[in-house]
Amino acid sequence: MRYDGYTSFSYLTPGRDYRAYDLAPELNRVAPYDLGLSEDQAARAERLLRESMVISLHDHPQVYPADLRDGVDYAHRGRTPLAYLGLSRSGLDAVFDNLAGPTGCITSHYGWTWTDVLHDIGMRLADVAHQDYVTIARTVADLHAARADGRLALVLGLEAATPIENNIDRLDLLYGFGVRQLGVVYNEANLLGGGLAEPRDGGLTRFGRRAVERMNKLGMAIDLSHAGDRTSMDAIAASERPVLITHAGARAVWPTERMKPDHVLRALAESGGLLGIEAAPHSTLSPAHPRHSIESVMDHFTYCVELMGIEHVTFGPDTLYGDHVAVHHAFAHLFAASKHPTVERVPYCAGMENPTENFRNVIGWLVKHGYRDDEIAMVVGGNTLRVLNQTW
Ligand SMILES: [Zn+2]
Repeated sequence: MRYDGYTSFSYLTPGRDYRAYDLAPELNRVAPYDLGLSEDQAARAERLLRESMVISLHDHPQVYPADLRDGVDYAHRGRTPLAYLGLSRSGLDAVFDNLAGPTGCITSHYGWTWTDVLHDIGMRLADVAHQDYVTIARTVADLHAARADGRLALVLGLEAATPIENNIDRLDLLYGFGVRQLGVVYNEANLLGGGLAEPRDGGLTRFGRRAVERMNKLGMAIDLSHAGDRTSMDAIAASERPVLITHAGARAVWPTERMKPDHVLRALAESGGLLGIEAAPHSTLSPAHPRHSIESVMDHFTYCVELMGIEHVTFGPDTLYGDHVAVHHAFAHLFAASKHPTVERVPYCAGMENPTENFRNVIGWLVKHGYRDDEIAMVVGGNTLRVLNQTW
């Protein structure tokens, strides 16, 4: 493993070249989660973490300020540090890095502008170019090469195609800049289709169909995590290649708009696609585990495996470094999706708080619950490789 202690933007002088924030710790911000594994189980889990290709299908692997009262100002600076140290201890081989996502507010208060997205991508590429541990993956071969070299691969992704406005060629530009996964729509409708927060989802538009076709031709993975149900069904049918729902859960387990209904999950599986199970605070709850933890997350996993088949499920935890609940509060005006009113509030999702612990704990949980080595290898990265081989 090549990590040599690099920290983001250390090629500049803090204070002189940019405003530096006191950042949240990348390691042990919260107490380690105890799965109660036996010594043998813990050793087997560590071996599987080491031997498997481990890919997070959705995270925001950046470090937020320790004090999020300044969060909007931090977002305006457009300089989000990548958690090199935290990631180097995670066992991950690759992460779908969805950058600042909906909080990318550099020139705009509302996010998803073309300029802001390009700024965000360019800033990440500039930072990554100054070190040797993290690399940008543009092909499946890049993913294998990074793992073989002890590097961590980032796959650049965006949660919404909104920044392309009505310009289909911007899909080519995003591809050129390295983006390999793109959400059709984020919560509120755009020119491509309906978002999950809309009372009426009119489905994929004519322009949306052209965009799906272009993404197929480019070899860019399509993400439906924040799309409405009808738009999701339309996009699954329109796409000639399997599509992704990178971070969500099952509405049959927890009835919110952010979760996906059975008919969408079945159609996704039948088309050869892949679901990443979500773990952002207060998202993937379950009646059996209404206080959010890895146990609630795994209730969605087991349900979806039963419904879709184990080859169509992986994990897209959607986590970051810092206080995710405070991030939700600081940027609440940007998320649009309604919150479940009766949810028990937690400070974080125990066991899946950050990218360093997520997959270690997921593998531990799967070991504890009797999954075979080959099944574990599939759901922590093997399934993703299969779909990317058909998509990119
Ligand atoms: Zn999201």
